[in-house]
Amino acid sequence: MTDFDPEWELATRAIRVGHARSQEGEHSEPIHMTSSFVYRSAAEAAARFSGEEPGNIYARFTNPTVRTFEQRLAAMEGGECCVATASGMSAILATCMGLLAQGDHLVSSRSIFGSTVVLFDKYLSRFGIQTDYVDLADLAAWEAAIRPQTKMLFVETPSNPLTALGDIQALADLAHAHDCLLVVDNCFCTPALQRPLELGADVVVHSATKYIDGQGRALGGAVVGDRQRVGEEVFGVLRTAGPSMSPFNAWLFLKGLETLELRMQAHSANAQSLAEWLAQHPAVERVHYPGLASHPQFELAQRQQKAPGGILAFEVKGGREAAWQVIDATRMLSITANLGDTKTTITHPASTTHGRLSEEQRQAAGVGQGLIRVAVGLEAIDDIRGDLARGLDAL
Ligand SMILES: *Cc1c(COP(=O)(O)O)cnc(C)c1O
Repeated sequence: MTDFDPEWELATRAIRVGHARSQEGEHSEPIHMTSSFVYRSAAEAAARFSGEEPGNIYARFTNPTVRTFEQRLAAMEGGECCVATASGMSAILATCMGLLAQGDHLVSSRSIFGSTVVLFDKYLSRFGIQTDYVDLADLAAWEAAIRPQTKMLFVETPSNPLTALGDIQALADLAHAHDCLLVVDNCFCTPALQRPLELGADVVVHSATKYIDGQGRALGGAVVGDRQRVGEEVFGVLRTAGPSMSPFNAWLFLKGLETLELRMQAHSANAQSLAEWLAQHPAVERVHYPGLASHPQFELAQRQQKAPGGILAFEVKGGREAAWQVIDATRMLSITANLGDTKTTITHPASTTHGRLSEEQRQAAGVGQGLIRVAVGLEAIDDIRGDLARGLDAL
C-alpha cells in the first residue's frame, strides 16, 4: 500500500489514499486503460514474472487505477489488503473459492442477497460445500448450526428488505471460538457507516455497484481483509480465474469513495425523515428502519453503525393490492429493485426480489404482500414524501 498517515480519518483516506502521482503531475487520478505493461529489459520482465520485483504485469491482476481503488477501500475498511472484482457476486465467489474447499460447511444468515443464496445452494454444493441458513438475529441458532466441518459464517447486515441486524462482534467471537471465519457483506452500510473488521470480522465483501458508485453507473465488487487470506488466497483466484474490475469502473468507484461519507449521511438523514413520517401515517401498519426506536435492535444499530442507512421497508394495510396502488401512484420514484443510487427506488419484494419463494417461505422471511421497500435517494425529502403521499393518502 502507498504510504498514508494512519492518523487520517475516513474522509481524508477516501480522498487521499492510493494515488502515486506520475511524472505528469496530474491532480486527479488517471485511468490506465491498458491490458499489458512493458519492461525495460528481459531481466526486468523475468523479475516481475517471478515475483522478485513488484510491479505491473497484466491487467487481469495488476492495473494502477484498480490498485488505487483497492488501496483506498482497504484504508477505509481498516484492512491490510483489498482485491477488486468485476461485480459483487464475483467478490463473494472469489472469497468462497479462495477460502473454502470440498467438504467444508458454511453457516449463513437466511436474509441475504438472492443471488448469493443461488451461489451457495446451486453452485458451491456441486463442489461439496454445504450451506445451512439461520435467523440472523438469533445467536443461539448460529451456534447450533456450527459443525466440526464449518469454516465460514456469512452475514449481511442490515438485512434486505426488513433491516434486521446481525451483531458483528458477537458473531466474530462465535466464529473464532469454533475456528471459523466471519465474512460480512457490507454493501448496505459501506465503511462510512460500519467497519466490520474493527468489530472482529475477518473478511468484508462489497458490491461496489451500490453505494460505492452511488450513481447507478457501473458493476463492481471488492474483498477486504488480511494479507494472507485476501492478499494471497482470494487474489490467487482473481489472478487465475479473472473476474477482474475494469480500470474505467475502478476510476468511477474511486471517485465515488471520495464523496461516500457525505452521501451516506445524506441517504440516512433522508431515510430517517421518511421513516418518521411513514410511522405516523394512518395507512401504514409498520415501518422497518434501524433509526426508529421501535426497531427491535435499535440499541445494536446505535452501537454498530454510525447512522441507520438509506434503506427502509413499510407495511400498508390492504395487502398486495394496496401496496401496488402506492407504488403505481408514484410519478418520480423509480420502480426498480436496485439500490444505492442518488435516485430513490421503490419495490414490492413479495412479487420481485422474493417472488420465487413459496408463500410459506415468504411468510417465514417476514415478507408480506403489503410490504414495500424504499431505497431512499438524495432528492429533496419533501419531493420524495410528496410522491409517496399521493398513493398512501388515497388508501
Ligand atoms: C447487489 C448486491 C450483491 C451483488 O452485487 P452485484 O454487483 O450485483 O454482483 C451482493 N450483496 C448485496 C447485499 C447486494 O445488494
